[in-house]
Amino acid sequence: MKFGTKAIHAGVEPDPSTGAIMTPIYQTSTYVQESPAKHKGYAYARGANPTRNSLQKSIAALENGKFGICFSSGMGATDAVVRLLNPGDEVITSNDLYGGSYRLFTKVYERVGIKFHFIDLANAESIIPLINKNTKLLWLETPSNPLMRIIDIQACVAIAKKHNIRVAVDNTFASPYLQNPLDLGADIVMHSVTKYLGGHSDVIMGALVVNDEKLQQDLAFIANSCGAVPGPQDSFLVLRGIKTLHLRMERHCLNGKKIAEYLRNHPKIGKVYWPGFSDHPNHDIAKKQMRDFGGMLSFTLKDDKIEQAITFMENVELFSLAESLGGVESLINHPASMTHASIPKEERLKNGLSDTLIRLSVGVEDIEDLIEDLEKALKGI
Ligand SMILES: *Cc1c(COP(=O)(O)O)cnc(C)c1O
Repeated sequence: MKFGTKAIHAGVEPDPSTGAIMTPIYQTSTYVQESPAKHKGYAYARGANPTRNSLQKSIAALENGKFGICFSSGMGATDAVVRLLNPGDEVITSNDLYGGSYRLFTKVYERVGIKFHFIDLANAESIIPLINKNTKLLWLETPSNPLMRIIDIQACVAIAKKHNIRVAVDNTFASPYLQNPLDLGADIVMHSVTKYLGGHSDVIMGALVVNDEKLQQDLAFIANSCGAVPGPQDSFLVLRGIKTLHLRMERHCLNGKKIAEYLRNHPKIGKVYWPGFSDHPNHDIAKKQMRDFGGMLSFTLKDDKIEQAITFMENVELFSLAESLGGVESLINHPASMTHASIPKEERLKNGLSDTLIRLSVGVEDIEDLIEDLEKALKGI
């Protein structure tokens, strides 16, 4: 089955009690059993809920995976993956990571004795010197946030497999429409469902997709034991959002490309970070592992002055100044003070994340209006 058909049909079956074409919102905390040891697969809603089950099947199908497990946020999903580890274990990850993941790793898990190595993963071989018998997890995020760097998933997997290291990929920026890490050999795909999968800026949710049954059981055990599960109303909203994922992504990609090109040719713009440019340092890998280049991009102003960047962000009207991404509406973000404020300044600058960097999540509005908005804002600086 092709992607668009799966987006509409996978996981969703007519409701057995009424034939309702959409999975109902099973707003219940518990289920009545026939006898103490006998139930219909549902005992208590932290463990399982039919609306959530439909969504888990849908997301798994979109990632070409066998099992989906949903969490109450993207961070809840990431947290579950780290909980597979033990004190003394080591993780290798990139130095250009979602700020919340960096915070979870350094502030919550380093404290209990898990060691994280943050490195430049432009070259997969740079993992090798850090590998030892304690290395248990390689955590990849590609395209990266906010610098749109691309990591070669297959090359990393090839090295990790030789050393029995599990590979997890945060696939939030690409969405399953653009990239399927399990097909490239990864063991776990993580999504902040809050972003493209939900797509309408009205839900916080996370998900993991895996192929291995034991891994699914371990993660579902963590989800039920630790309790970061999403509710049925949110599950319904995401099931609804996913039905247009392919249509939205098509437009996100088209609009993203047009804005990247517009900015690149503008005299007041400095550098534009977008993996679709043929001179982007990882363009070939992006072309190899992604179907298109998405609607996320970052840029700096030619005069790299923070005051100008702030004026520009105040000038735009259609682009809303807000954290988050992947919704139908266009957003503008200042990583240094917003999404990435939890990363110490020296770390940020060292990794190329300057004070004047501006990130766009290009929505699905009409492109002429988006470009006019940017043009007006640029005139005002
Ligand atoms: C938003 C985001 C997360 C965290 O997800 P939440 O749903 O906000 O908890 C993780 N990774 C990336 C790349 C994100 O953009």
